[in-house]
Amino acid sequence: MDMNEKDYVVVVQCSIVKQRCPGYLCEKAFNERTGGFAEYPRDRNYRMIFIECGGCCGRAVHRKLSLLKRTIQKKEGLDKGRIVVQLASCVSKNNYHGPPCPHLDYIKTLIDRIGLDLRQDTVISAKSEQRRQEGLYE
Ligand code: SF4
Ligand code: SF4
Repeated sequence: MDMNEKDYVVVVQCSIVKQRCPGYLCEKAFNERTGGFAEYPRDRNYRMIFIECGGCCGRAVHRKLSLLKRTIQKKEGLDKGRIVVQLASCVSKNNYHGPPCPHLDYIKTLIDRIGLDLRQDTVISAKSEQRRQEGLYE
């Protein structure tokens, strides 16, 4: 996926985790182009929106992203190919919040059906990465 061909980034975060988390570390990872954002060119500006999955089982992701896709097309003529969805690490990764979302495959299927490009992970903490390598996390 060529990140130079994207204009709009949609980060999908876990609604349960977001009851406490302000999402700062996701934003920081993007700002610094680290973790799941390492492949985004630093000198390119992106529009960005953060949405929650809407709660288990994540089905609201389909409605939210479908509406977003249609609205962006209508208001700005932006094709869906210019949009990239980024699953936050609290959805996609095993970390101190817990294992990945139990509905991860379902959410990925929903996004695939809308025809939007998908990437996984946002912030990747050094400690969690070390625990993954040690086999403590999957
Ligand atoms: S990945 Fe971390 S910072 Fe981002 S929304 Fe989830 S818990 Fe918050
Ligand atoms: S569906 Fe997954 S990402 Fe959404 S609230 Fe439930 S556990 Fe979190």
